[in-house]
Amino acid sequence: MQIHTTTKQIKKENKQILCKNCGIICNSRIVLDSHIESRNHRNRVTNKRQSPKCKLCEKTFDNHTTLGVHLKSRAHFKKLSKTQ
Ligand SMILES: [Zn+2]
Ligand SMILES: [Zn+2]
Repeated sequence: MQIHTTTKQIKKENKQILCKNCGIICNSRIVLDSHIESRNHRNRVTNKRQSPKCKLCEKTFDNHTTLGVHLKSRAHFKKLSKTQ
């Protein structure tokens, strides 16, 4: 009689997972999940997506200052006058 000895190596999931958006290292999936649900993470993600945009010209800007400059520019006014 042969005894099959399967030596299953129990893999400990000690993988540290990095949240690329926040640069935060989570020790487990559960920690990561709870982090993703957190306000800190959501704020970071939404802030990244919300780069100011001129919908009329379909141009995105690094910040609101450059957007403001664009909104006063001739190029923008030209577009504006054409649509109206
Ligand atoms: Zn995050
Ligand atoms: Zn514009």
